[in-house]
Amino acid sequence: KIRVRFAPSPTGMLHLGGLRTALYNFLFARSQRGTFILRIEDTDQTRLVPGAVQRLEEMLNWVGITPDEGPTQGGDWGPYIQSQRLQTYQEEMDTLLKNRTTYRCFCTTKRLELLRKEALRRREVPKYDGRCRHLSEEEVTKKLEQGLPSVIRLKLESLHEPWEDLVYGPININITDVEGDPILMKTDGYPTYHFANVVDDHHMGVTHVLRGVEWQTSTPKHLLLYRAFGWEPPKFAHLPLIMNRDGTKLSKRQGDIQVDYFKENGYFSDAVLNYITQMGGGFNVETTEGLVLDELIDEFSVRQLNRNSGRLDTEKLNAYNRLHLQRLLRSSRRQDMIQQTRDMVRHQFQDRLGDSRVQEMVLEDEHISDVLEWSQTRIHRLEDLLAKNMEFIWIVPKMEDLRRVTKLPLDTDYCLEHCINSLRNAVEFSVDSLSVLLRNDAKDLKVKFSDYMKLLRGSLSGLQEGPAVAEMLVILGKGNSVARLHQAAS
Ligand code: GLU
Repeated sequence: KIRVRFAPSPTGMLHLGGLRTALYNFLFARSQRGTFILRIEDTDQTRLVPGAVQRLEEMLNWVGITPDEGPTQGGDWGPYIQSQRLQTYQEEMDTLLKNRTTYRCFCTTKRLELLRKEALRRREVPKYDGRCRHLSEEEVTKKLEQGLPSVIRLKLESLHEPWEDLVYGPININITDVEGDPILMKTDGYPTYHFANVVDDHHMGVTHVLRGVEWQTSTPKHLLLYRAFGWEPPKFAHLPLIMNRDGTKLSKRQGDIQVDYFKENGYFSDAVLNYITQMGGGFNVETTEGLVLDELIDEFSVRQLNRNSGRLDTEKLNAYNRLHLQRLLRSSRRQDMIQQTRDMVRHQFQDRLGDSRVQEMVLEDEHISDVLEWSQTRIHRLEDLLAKNMEFIWIVPKMEDLRRVTKLPLDTDYCLEHCINSLRNAVEFSVDSLSVLLRNDAKDLKVKFSDYMKLLRGSLSGLQEGPAVAEMLVILGKGNSVARLHQAAS
């Protein structure tokens, strides 16, 4: 039975790279009726960020990637937080010390620093020279008795044979060329990433490891550890690199790649998921029409995963978001969308308008429903309906704003009355037919079309510039439009 895990370190906010790893593990588990585990890798106590685990779980919940086993869900293979598993690491380390695949290293920070500097001077990659590999048992005992601090290192070796990456095919990295013996356990008895990760994957019965390609160079070390223990390693699949649109690397400090950012800025979780599947592929169908999580599960196939790195492109995200907006409006959740829009608009303008004018806002179901209908092909996010030049949709313009329009060289009241009449008689209330109607009006009234438009735009919205008048009329609907023109005429 398939068991996969998402193993983040709680060192900050969940970003798109982490979310993608979580998503693919989840999709793999769900599509194979396997188990998806959340494991917190917090052995680097210096880099912990308070509250990070909770935020991470919240974000996973938001997108619907809920673990089957994890710190909150529990499970038979826990605990799921590495700092609570120190005993296991100690015990397993004893095995590796006994079978001599690892060794104690007493080298001081000072010596290591010297080694590093020398290597840099020779323009070489700094790596540990393996001095303590050759200490005799007596020497080790003596140093321990003296109370000298030590770390435990792995005897790094070449794997000789390539290993099979489910995405990248056979991989052969000659690790000893570039690295010295890695530390597996620190002076304080805490394991490092490599050790804890392998021990836990084994103890938690993980069958497949799906993670970002930046971890691919760690895999030989992990395979070596499995060999040292005599354990069967899991299968490995690495996911391609995600880059910014301009080809630069993502940085954790970038605010616009954190999952919170998308939630707070009105993106649907499914759109965010679609967005990151662009950087990974993995589906039997084209996903351009915007799939929801369950559909992604149905169509997922490891064999379809991409090797090529992908670039983030917010336009694609916006396009997905619009697709999901359209989908939601066609679905049984339309009413929820109406309510959500109402809450959003109220929340946005409440403070500015004060209680009395909030009453005057136009927030009837029918109006919101019409606005949403109109906006599906024009906006990407519901939030776009809060833009400055859209305020008129929700708020009846103030009389002071309307006064400004009376300065036009027109008999304003007469023109407004005329318009009210033609609107009342209009059979069709679409942008096209209203554009014709307005042109004819201007002709009949013998006024300049642009002046007439200024008058109507100002009367409908208080704006001097903004959307085309025909569009405004459609968004507001016949009733609201006529009412506003009346108000302006009085
Ligand atoms: N803790 C590692 C991380 O932060 C896990 C890498 C892995 O999946 O092996 O991504």
